[in-house]
Amino acid sequence: MERSRIVAANWKMNVLPSEAKTLAGQVARALPIKNVEVIICPPFTHLFSLMPFQSESLKIGAQNCNENLFGAHTGDISAQMLKDLGCSYVIIGHSERRARQSTENARISAKIHAALQAGLKPIYCCGEGLPIREKEAHIEFVKDQLESDLATLQKEHIEEIVIAYEPVWAIGTGKNASPEQAQEMHASIRKWLSARFGNDLSIQTQILYGGSVKAVNALALAKQNDIDGFLVGGASLNVDEFMKIVHSVSESAND
Ligand code: PEP
Repeated sequence: MERSRIVAANWKMNVLPSEAKTLAGQVARALPIKNVEVIICPPFTHLFSLMPFQSESLKIGAQNCNENLFGAHTGDISAQMLKDLGCSYVIIGHSERRARQSTENARISAKIHAALQAGLKPIYCCGEGLPIREKEAHIEFVKDQLESDLATLQKEHIEEIVIAYEPVWAIGTGKNASPEQAQEMHASIRKWLSARFGNDLSIQTQILYGGSVKAVNALALAKQNDIDGFLVGGASLNVDEFMKIVHSVSESAND
C-alpha cells in the first residue's frame, strides 16, 4: 500500500512572530509538491497568524498541548484551544520536552487522548538516547515507549496518529541515523503496530524519521521502505534547504 508522505517542520523556539508569515509564505508559495503534505509547527505565539496559509498541501500544527481540556494550568495550552484556533496537528512527546520536564513521560498518553478528543492529529515522537543505542537496547527501549504511550489507544485512534521516530542522539547534533539504522527501527515500530492493532493499520500508519535531516541526506533516508517522511528541526528554518528535503520525499514516493 502506498502511504502518503509528510514533511513536518518543527520550528522549536525559533523565528519571531513578526518573521513567521514571511517564512511560512515562502514555503506556501513553493507548494504543492506531488505526494507530500507539509506541516509547519511554529511556537504557540505564531499559530494564529499562520492559519491563513493552511491548504490541502500545507497544514499548521502546534508543538505541545496540555492533557486537560481547560483549567488551572498556568502557561499551558489545551488541545481544544489549538483546534478552535484552526490547528490540524500537534507534536506530542518530543524528546526536548521529555528531557526537560520530569513528569512529561507519564503525561504523553493522556495528551494523545486529549488531542484526539479535540480532533487534532498527534505527531507522536519516540526514540532512544545515546547510552541506550550504545548498549544496543534501542529496539526494546522504543517498544517500551510505544507500549506505555500508545497501548491504551483503540484502532480508530491509531488511524489518526503519525509516529515520528527521533533518536535523541541525532536531534540537532548533525549526526543523522543511517538509512539502515532508521529503517530497522521503523520496521520494528510497524511490527509492533501490527501485533497490537493488526496488519492493515500497521501498513497504513505514517512513520516519520527525525534527527539532523538535511537536503544532503534526505533522499537516501526517504527511499527506505518504512520511512514515510520527516520531522525536521534546524533545516526547516531555511526555505531552500527545507524545500529540497520536501522534493526528495516526493521523488522517493514517485520511485
Ligand atoms: C526535531 O527537533 O524534531 C529535530 C528532528 O531536529 P533537527 O532536525 O534539528 O535534528
